[in-house]
Amino acid sequence: MTMNKPASELHCPLCGKSKATVISEMDSFGFKVRYYLCQTCGFVYQNPGESAAADPAFYEETYRKLYQATEEPTAKDLRQQRLRAEYQLNLMQQHGVCRLWRALDIGASSGTLMQTIHEAYGAEMIGVEPGNAYRKLAEEKGFKLYPSLEQLQASETAKFDLVTMMHVLEHLEDPLGTLREIRTHLLNDHGFLLLEVPNFYAHDSYELAHLSCFTEHTLSEMLKQAGYKIMHTRKHGYPRSEKLDLYLTVLARPQNEPDENTAIIPERNVALKRTLGTLKRNVLSKIMPGKTWLPLEDKA
Ligand SMILES: [Zn+2]
Repeated sequence: MTMNKPASELHCPLCGKSKATVISEMDSFGFKVRYYLCQTCGFVYQNPGESAAADPAFYEETYRKLYQATEEPTAKDLRQQRLRAEYQLNLMQQHGVCRLWRALDIGASSGTLMQTIHEAYGAEMIGVEPGNAYRKLAEEKGFKLYPSLEQLQASETAKFDLVTMMHVLEHLEDPLGTLREIRTHLLNDHGFLLLEVPNFYAHDSYELAHLSCFTEHTLSEMLKQAGYKIMHTRKHGYPRSEKLDLYLTVLARPQNEPDENTAIIPERNVALKRTLGTLKRNVLSKIMPGKTWLPLEDKA
């Protein structure tokens, strides 16, 4: 792992401008993590030049080890993935995703979502998963997986009707560039993009590997910049909370004639909204802990 990368100049992943203030600084897994608030558009991000998370080797094995103490998937983790997959399938079925022939899951983990989509639509499924132990589990389910998007693109030329990215975008060094790349090279003109990220106004969000923090507004602006039209946005806590909108799930489609020069509408009062969101989380955790934080394991 290269940890001594020189700090590069700030560059907002949403608007590209460099004017920013520090919104928060903390230690995460022994690393110093610093988040910036863009003074131009209100986006919250880490400077990848400063962050160990920007190192691809970090993702390969260390990421899972750091987060789950073991490289092998845990029962809690698999349960969470199954519940999420059912939730996301339901969302797609309710919002016009009727037929799928070929779908791609970026950040496929153990292949739970791939399996759920395959069973519901009969679609051919391809996955991208950098974690070796997880990728192996998904391959054991009979799916084709690649360790990186680059390796997928080198081998797969046919486009996809659906690209899913669950809790992936916040980890990417260039989320906007990746969204554009997906639209132009991976997704059919009539295809769908389904993604989920932590909601900065309810989820703690601050973690070593989270390079970006999204709000409903900044996620929507980034999707517009990348040439997508949003079909449906859901703020929710499933499967972790009944009370907090911890996650943002978005179903989007490529725009017919994307205008990449569309001005970004800045988000205002981001720090204040974050403070209020954190306050709400703390109060609810205290007065109704059972509904605010649902159990991670099924009751016996
Ligand atoms: Zn910005």
